[in-house]
Amino acid sequence: MTTIQNYINGQLCPPLSGNYLDSVNPATGQVHAHIPDSDVQDVEAAIQAAQKAFPDWSNRSNEERSRILMTIAQRIEEKLDELALAESQDNGKPLSLAQKIDIPRAASNFRFFATAINHYAAESHQMAQVAINYTTRRPLGVVACISPWNLPLYLFTWKIAPALAAGNCVVAKPSEVTPLTAYLLTQICQEVGLPAGVLNVVHGLGPKAGNAMVIHPSIKAISFTGGTQTGARIAQQAAPLFKKLSLELGGKNPNIIFADCEYDDMLDTTIRSSFSNQGQICLAGSRIFVEASIYEQFKADFVKRTKALVVGNPLHASSNVGAVVSKPQMEKVLSYITLAKEEGGIILAGGNRIIVPDCEEGYFIAPTIIEGLAHDARTNQEEIFGPVVTMMPFETEEEVLSYANSTPYGLSSTVWTSHLKRAHRVAEQLEAGIVWVNCWLLRDLRTPFGGVKQSGVGREGGWEALRFFTEPKNVCIKL
Ligand code: NAD
Repeated sequence: MTTIQNYINGQLCPPLSGNYLDSVNPATGQVHAHIPDSDVQDVEAAIQAAQKAFPDWSNRSNEERSRILMTIAQRIEEKLDELALAESQDNGKPLSLAQKIDIPRAASNFRFFATAINHYAAESHQMAQVAINYTTRRPLGVVACISPWNLPLYLFTWKIAPALAAGNCVVAKPSEVTPLTAYLLTQICQEVGLPAGVLNVVHGLGPKAGNAMVIHPSIKAISFTGGTQTGARIAQQAAPLFKKLSLELGGKNPNIIFADCEYDDMLDTTIRSSFSNQGQICLAGSRIFVEASIYEQFKADFVKRTKALVVGNPLHASSNVGAVVSKPQMEKVLSYITLAKEEGGIILAGGNRIIVPDCEEGYFIAPTIIEGLAHDARTNQEEIFGPVVTMMPFETEEEVLSYANSTPYGLSSTVWTSHLKRAHRVAEQLEAGIVWVNCWLLRDLRTPFGGVKQSGVGREGGWEALRFFTEPKNVCIKL
């Protein structure tokens, strides 16, 4: 049993109230850690520590900050096995996935922004014979980073790394559902000698510890990833306080399959975009639209491949699908399957909870495929965030675009076609921040990442992140 501690002013410390919450391993249903139930006092102490650290950290050279962040990246890699195991036990995801994706990406996040900051230059604009403008970009001060449970260390570091690289001091809160790897990261920060107060991690509940960060007047910016409703609540609180906001929210992404696609590649990738991480990826292609001429063939192949996925103990190398993150999440996903049936959907695969040997109390759901629903059924409009996809046929480009764009979300889309002009045409018309053509989740960390409509406000990644975490000031000098 691990007792997680907050990380404030360089020290690992208990919550001031002394209260803890249970953290459950979703594969076993058993409590495996205790997590600080932090409140406004802990957040206040973290913000004070961050404010104290800011003058020194922000005035260090980029190279110096970069060096420390590179050391963190290296330690994450050295501790890959320990971190991956913790991630799997906390989240329910297959250990192999955490080893291949989550933890390497956390290291890459630090390395990417540690190097990016050395190339981040200010602009200047000359007005011939009249004046010269130069623009400086200074760190904001103390910023808050709040992250969700589906890709715990991956998304936590995706925010923290650019914020720190740019010279800010950070008060961060990982999801209370998956706090373990953020705790291990704070141990790494201690080991490598990150100066006290530069990063502070306060564990606890969103409406309590998270909200205290959102409304605190000394927090200059909030980088948030999570549900759309939570994002709306944060925006409501923070906007009147004139804080900078980056909101990365939910998705209900279309996967559009044209008959002329490279079929085998499409099928392999569609299995991943549907069910990897138990479908708990904001970018998952949960609505599959298939051109009518290949619908029946695709249906037969996709159902067969889905039924062959091994749902099992996340620690076993043979498991393709692990547990969903929590009991409430399992109940939510199962309730959507019930809704889909009420709406007239036909279950082609899965549709039920699975009892896994050795993990009888765990929260496992069979990968589920549903057909026969209208594009505007609730099942096709609301984010389920589990191993559940729907599929339906289409005849024309116009028709599929109208289906694809019909939800309130606009995070990502995938298009499968070998027709170059069609790929451009469809990509242009999709209402989404990210379009993948003949691939999925292929990420270049330099590219803008984020959604439109209710999928969010702002962009992360590359220069976008460094711009978000800095404030430009233009100086105009008359010649
Ligand atoms: P959530 O909104 O419940 O929680 C996210 C984080 O916000 C947690 O740390 C939580 O404690 C905190 N929080 C909750 N209420 C708060 C409040 N009032 N003030 C401040 N903080 C608060 O989301 P979740 O269930 O952890 O994650 C799943 C959601 O995240 C899905 O909707 C998914 O699509 C979305 N997501 C989006 C992206 C993206 O990049 N767009 C990536 C991953 C997940």
